[in-house]
Amino acid sequence: MTKRDYYEVLGVPRSAYEIQIKKAYRKLARKYHPDVNPDDPQAEEKFKEATEAYEVLSNTEKRRQYDMFGHTAFGDSYRPEWSSVSSIFREFGFGIDDFFLRDMFDFFREPTFRTRVRVRTEVWSIPGDDILERINILFKQAAFGIKKDLEYEKYETCEKCGGSGSIDGELTSCPNCGGAGEIRTTRQTMLGTMISTRTCSNCRGTGRIIAKPCSNCNAQGRVLEKVKLKINVPPGVSEGTRLKVSGKGNAGIRGGGYGDLYIHIKVTPHKLFVRDGYNIFSKKEISFYEAALGSKVLVETLNGKEKMDIVPGTESGEKIRLKSKGVQHLGRDIKGDHIIEIIVRTPSKMTKKEIKLLQEIAKEKGLEVGNGTLDFLTKIKKAFKT
Ligand SMILES: [Zn+2]
Ligand SMILES: [Zn+2]
Repeated sequence: MTKRDYYEVLGVPRSAYEIQIKKAYRKLARKYHPDVNPDDPQAEEKFKEATEAYEVLSNTEKRRQYDMFGHTAFGDSYRPEWSSVSSIFREFGFGIDDFFLRDMFDFFREPTFRTRVRVRTEVWSIPGDDILERINILFKQAAFGIKKDLEYEKYETCEKCGGSGSIDGELTSCPNCGGAGEIRTTRQTMLGTMISTRTCSNCRGTGRIIAKPCSNCNAQGRVLEKVKLKINVPPGVSEGTRLKVSGKGNAGIRGGGYGDLYIHIKVTPHKLFVRDGYNIFSKKEISFYEAALGSKVLVETLNGKEKMDIVPGTESGEKIRLKSKGVQHLGRDIKGDHIIEIIVRTPSKMTKKEIKLLQEIAKEKGLEVGNGTLDFLTKIKKAFKT
């Protein structure tokens, strides 16, 4: 199922202020709150959807990322953590001790649980999330590749407990459900008393919890850390290329394995070159004399200045292709071309001698020409045009 746009979910414009977002969420949350809609799965979905949208859009950093990358910023399976959901509920005065709500948002994460079935004797683990980071590189660095140091924040395995979340590996009966793994709730509805049984969220139905939780990681088996990584950006990447570094995402909860790191490449534009795929485009101005008589001119290429032949009679707008002087193909040993568009400049400020020589040529061709200088009025007009 594809996710709806968060702004659309909350019904606010992309330019909405924080206060508008808050207002929109409050309205939706009140409308779809499970207390108002008992046993209505559709309302429950709407409530979860709005809460997820608000969780992202109310966080400046997350909103910025979402604005740039949309849902791909966090992945389609993104679900807010209970910790941030509970602080939202606290802010809006929804009961956070309500097992129903907590269960609801823990169920939210359900598809990502790996060990749901075989959990009778162990406490569950959750795989680590992927991380999206961004690096900026220069035009030539994209063409030739570069090694970059990346510093980012991620969950790492807790060293104190080796990622288990437990000091000694012992389990004990869950106090929340008395070891049953289920919780019965009685709710008053218009149809009378409804009794429902839900899986205990404290032990996720296992009936057991960690006896001595590791205090370093709060029994999560992972801690947030700043890490450094050398990123090998290969030659041929371009704006928007996404590099995947396997296993360098977040550590999972209690040994749930690592997510991956994705690196979104941003390339600073070059002042002379424009890139299209693996080809490079640039312009070269030459004089009317060089165009007419032919010449060798210096042009800027990826590899520095190079001499290029101008054949006699070259027209403005003509393109010269420098074979294999473009960008190396990503992961392949071939290169694109560098295409140079020639712009022929007609001389404007000429010496008396130049004017005289050109007039002689024109005379030979039988052309009626001027004296090569602008009159005062034309000069003014030209100045205003540019
Ligand atoms: Zn620990
Ligand atoms: Zn329990």
